[in-house]
Amino acid sequence: MTIFKHSFPVLLLLVLSFYTYHSYDQFPEVIVTAVIFLPVVMFLLTLGLSVHFNRSTVFFYVILIAATNMALGMGLISTYLGYALFSIAIPALFLVYTLLPERGVFSANAAPAYGILFTTLFITFVLALMSPEWLRYLLLIDWLPARYFDWTPLPQSILLLFVLLFITMLVLSFVRPSPHMFAATGMLILLMVQLHAGATSRSLNIFTSAAFLLCLYAILQESWRMAYLDELTELPARRALREKFQQVSGVYTVAMIDVDHFKKFNDTYGHDTGDAVLRMIAGKLSKVTGGGVSYRYGGEEFSVIFNGRDVRDAHTHLEKLREAIASSLFVVNRKSRRKNDNSRPNKNNKTVTITVSIGVADSTASVNSPWDVLKLADKALYRAKNKGRNCICT
Ligand code: GH3
Ligand code: MG
Ligand code: MG
Repeated sequence: MTIFKHSFPVLLLLVLSFYTYHSYDQFPEVIVTAVIFLPVVMFLLTLGLSVHFNRSTVFFYVILIAATNMALGMGLISTYLGYALFSIAIPALFLVYTLLPERGVFSANAAPAYGILFTTLFITFVLALMSPEWLRYLLLIDWLPARYFDWTPLPQSILLLFVLLFITMLVLSFVRPSPHMFAATGMLILLMVQLHAGATSRSLNIFTSAAFLLCLYAILQESWRMAYLDELTELPARRALREKFQQVSGVYTVAMIDVDHFKKFNDTYGHDTGDAVLRMIAGKLSKVTGGGVSYRYGGEEFSVIFNGRDVRDAHTHLEKLREAIASSLFVVNRKSRRKNDNSRPNKNNKTVTITVSIGVADSTASVNSPWDVLKLADKALYRAKNKGRNCICT
């Protein structure tokens, strides 16, 4: 489901750009004229936004897309070997920037990323210029009968590398499904198609614009994530809860969940282990049954909203959640408190359990807003703590 949700906009854009490419002649003159300026406008927009948001991955994507457009459009590539080398350098760099972590656009940490870019382009240029025999053989030879490949100017070796790079990107997209990854896979397809289609103005305008559009989509999705998702737990954050509260009406239940004795847990096992516990709890919360939606309210407190359910209805699902958390074993390393003591590491591993207390209230109480329901749930949570913790109070 997530995979479909993330890949659908990208697939739609790909289909649209292929359709536009094939029906380009039928478009009115005015649209065609406007499309000529689209790559430049999109380039400036995406470059500006990637710098503004300090997103190095998208920044390098923009550079690679622009470089492809310019090299093909301005006829900078003069030999067939040069074309083959460039056609593999660009997608390979694309994969590299997908794998490199975000390091900022103009920070010192980004230096290796620039180094990789300039070194690769320099080596490509030198190899194209020297044109060694072995490389020409390796890249330009027909491994299979040439008649099967008369649909493309790309050499067979490059096509094979395209397939390998594409499969790698696809695997990455399925392993780490996110709008960003699927957008990147879409961009890679567009770059490869662009390299195949060559220097026609129609392909330069359409596929470059479409690739920039995917950059824009990736930037917007990333900003949405930063605003609405909590970084540590990846649950929706307080801002998302506030929006949810603007939408709920009728019968609904709010549950406030607080980790028990968490300060002591942090003091005993360290803050990093505490973070890992919060992620584990968030994992359970994201799978809460009964249609509940979980949020990280802040610190070690979470909220779950059940739309269309009253407290009695939601109680069973919260009880299941409480039990699931209380029965999970968590392996901690006692050594992590004393970093210098590295003797007998296995003896230091220990399994612990963690519990949560839950306060619940619903909108059937005489209240004015969801925030009032939340306050009631908070009071109930206080009672659950006083009752001895690891329980639910209404
Ligand atoms: P109680 O059972 O009464 O809730 O006890 P408690 O210790 O959990 O309550 P308290 O509110 O005093 O402590 C909350 C602790 O949660 C304090 C803080 O160190 C920890 N905490 C809050 N946010 C985070 C976080 O993001 N990561 C980690 N590791 N700890 C956090
Ligand atoms: Mg607390
Ligand atoms: Mg607590």
